[in-house]
Amino acid sequence: MVDAKRPDDSHSSGVVTARNVGRTYYMGEPVHALQDLSLTLEPGSFTAVMGPSGSGKSTLMNMLGCLDTPDEGTVEIDGRSVGDLSGSQRAKLRGTKIGFVFQTFNLMPRLTAAENVTLPMVFNDVVDEDRRSRAKTLLDRVGLGDRLDHAPTELSGGQRQRVAIARALANEPTLILADEPTGNLDSETGADIMELFEELHAEGRTILMVTHERHIAERAERIVHLLDGKLDYIEDVSDVVPTVPAEDSEAAAPNGGDDA
Ligand code: ADP
Ligand code: MG
Repeated sequence: MVDAKRPDDSHSSGVVTARNVGRTYYMGEPVHALQDLSLTLEPGSFTAVMGPSGSGKSTLMNMLGCLDTPDEGTVEIDGRSVGDLSGSQRAKLRGTKIGFVFQTFNLMPRLTAAENVTLPMVFNDVVDEDRRSRAKTLLDRVGLGDRLDHAPTELSGGQRQRVAIARALANEPTLILADEPTGNLDSETGADIMELFEELHAEGRTILMVTHERHIAERAERIVHLLDGKLDYIEDVSDVVPTVPAEDSEAAAPNGGDDA
């Protein structure tokens, strides 16, 4: 992508590239959370990330989402190196281009569903009065149009994750980053949430999803396997029909299990 592009062409842009990214945490002994990792997310692609606990999945997501900066290598979004941006420029980029979904939903407990969804709109020029109607549109879209004024504690886990997805969509981001979004949900609710992600992908959004469940990862086009902070291998699953867990085996290993 040519670097002279201006923000107007947001629909054709959206390439995210990690080049030789490294991140080391110093907690007494240095922990090499990521090492020499290079990865490109093409616009509109759907990538799953798998790997054992501690292999660097969340660290990778945080790097690609500008929540953290690498201490080696670069992350580029639309051809711009994130490391060259100021803190506030990075926050604006994160707030307008990227939507985050987390395993534990991360909703503000004292705010209603609608208020949670309006929070990221401060990064965009959405006029105050328009925010609630925009939140309603987004909550309608995830099937919660009748729960606008409910607090998170008044919602089920699946409903909370739907609110979190609506919040992630607040500024129509091109990139959605999800860290084990179904990890705290039963398999049926998780399947509903996956349908939402598939819709977002079908709309042309770029999605990166961390999961330890094989059948979830198979819904993506490819699986990036991490091991000890390094890219182990990339598996093409675009032609794989996801192995849906059978209805009658609901009690069997809801957490997948092989590499959790
Ligand atoms: P995963 O998401 O695959 O379980 P993480 O990316 O969370 O793995 O962590 C990778 C490694 O980096 C682990 O060894 C973890 O303990 C370490 N780590 C992650 N975040 C921090 C942090 N903020 N401070 C110190 N060590 C961290
Ligand atoms: Mg993690």
